[in-house]
Amino acid sequence: LYSAYLYTGMAAYAASLSLNGVANWFKIQTKEEIEHATKFMHYITEQGGKIVLKAIDAPDQKFTSVAGLFEETLKHEKVVTASIQSLVALAKKDGDVATEIFLQWYVTEQVEEEANPTEILQKLAIGGKTGSSLLILDGILGQRK
Ligand code: FE
Repeated sequence: LYSAYLYTGMAAYAASLSLNGVANWFKIQTKEEIEHATKFMHYITEQGGKIVLKAIDAPDQKFTSVAGLFEETLKHEKVVTASIQSLVALAKKDGDVATEIFLQWYVTEQVEEEANPTEILQKLAIGGKTGSSLLILDGILGQRK
């Protein structure tokens, strides 16, 4: 849910620059993160656990460039990957096979979560982080559904 909050802030920043394609990408990213959280909650409920919602920290919103958004995204997703991997290790240690299998989906998902911003950063590295290459990227990211 923090991820969703972080990406909501990034979508708002992109929209403020009229980069609506970039904003679209982060809005879809936000939706996906909520789905990931929902999937966790569903699993916990199925296993007889109790959902306890806590306060969500305000994300850092000092954005200065579009490239910076994707650098932050990649950095954040790496933290998430490490968290998922810790959960896998914990499930293994506890002999909780069902949870270990459940977590496999997130392990695979994190490969994509890191690959997406990496690809975008590579495109920005090729085309340049400003000007017309940014507008081309905006067009590409506007196509994400
Ligand atoms: Fe994510």
